[in-house]
Amino acid sequence: MEQLAIFGGTPVRTTPLSYGRQYIDEEDIQAVADTLRSDYLTCGPRITQLEEMLCEVTGAKYCVAVSNGTAALHIAAMAAGIKEGDEVITTPITFAASANCALYCGARPVFADINPDTYNIDPDSIRKCITDKTKAVVAVDFTGQAVELDEIRAICKEHNLILIEDAAHSIGTKYNGQPIGSIADMTTFSFHPVKTITAGEGGAVTTNDPVLYQKLVLAHAHGITRDRSQMVHPTDDPWYYEQVNLGYNYRMTEFQAALLMSQLKKLEAFSKRRKEIVKMYDEAFSKIPELKVQKEIPESDTTRHLYILQLDGEKLTCTRREFFDALRGENIYSQVHYIPVYWHSHYEKLGYAKGLCPNAEHYYMQCMSLPLYYSLKDEDVKDVIHAVEKVVDYYRK
Ligand SMILES: *Cc1c(COP(=O)(O)O)cnc(C)c1O
Repeated sequence: MEQLAIFGGTPVRTTPLSYGRQYIDEEDIQAVADTLRSDYLTCGPRITQLEEMLCEVTGAKYCVAVSNGTAALHIAAMAAGIKEGDEVITTPITFAASANCALYCGARPVFADINPDTYNIDPDSIRKCITDKTKAVVAVDFTGQAVELDEIRAICKEHNLILIEDAAHSIGTKYNGQPIGSIADMTTFSFHPVKTITAGEGGAVTTNDPVLYQKLVLAHAHGITRDRSQMVHPTDDPWYYEQVNLGYNYRMTEFQAALLMSQLKKLEAFSKRRKEIVKMYDEAFSKIPELKVQKEIPESDTTRHLYILQLDGEKLTCTRREFFDALRGENIYSQVHYIPVYWHSHYEKLGYAKGLCPNAEHYYMQCMSLPLYYSLKDEDVKDVIHAVEKVVDYYRK
């Protein structure tokens, strides 16, 4: 058995690998530089081009580009008409923004449990959470794997709920052959640098519904319109615009749009490489009984944003923290996705208590995210696998 680096052994590698990182090439840099030399830094032609490109990629009819994925969720919640007294069902295994968008609108997030094998929200648990106050479901394609959209859409239809799909992880994923972005009532994206494609900061909402689209456009730009048909007091004064409700300034800049369009051209290559890496990990880890590999539903053709390692605590002598530290000693810097949202002290103050979603909590206690990004080389992947095997060997019961 190899000695772990944390106990004085030689680390598997000398340079650290993080769990995720962006890939920016000269073309991306040129696209941004060209934009900085152009007439528009915001509200220009590139935003429109980007929105059209995102419609093509997702198959959606309409798209609104925004400043980040959190803003995308907020305007989607606004467009859904979520307000004080409403309830919004979501998963605890997500970034807090998926639930915060309900709080922004004065509504109460209700947490459904996850499926212990796919780690995505469990449709049966959604059903149990529905009350007279339920207005919407925010379903998160966790790690990039599509949620069970057919079943969740059927539940939403039956109970007259709006389905918002948080696709921060899942650009490039298809469900039954159809790209994510054109299936739910609204789909939100994030283009933060850890995600599959990046704009530095950025987000978008796609929809096929013209009424929702109009609401999204207003919400992301102050509630101001230049469209006379939407005005209460239309005039033909050329300078006239009207604020018809309360919105925000959630616009994306032109140079972010330029970067994102350049990144979108590489989405297929990014997607292909991520799939290759996931396959290498899955093959290696499915042979190790102390580890559990994420189950994929057949409907989802997944562009994976995160690779999750699940430990089987019963078969190891170490805690998750010890495993995490040992991997770090080998220069593999993992992360944990996610702390159940309602465990955060803010949610505790709002009256949520531990024990609410047992599958989610059990998942959290044993999970870790391994390096997964486009520029990861085969040798890097082998190092990660070697390091994981080394740590498992050391702590095997
Ligand atoms: C990253 C992320 C967000 C928020 O996106 P930002 O662009 O960082 O605001 C929302 N939901 C999920 C699931 C995410 O991973």
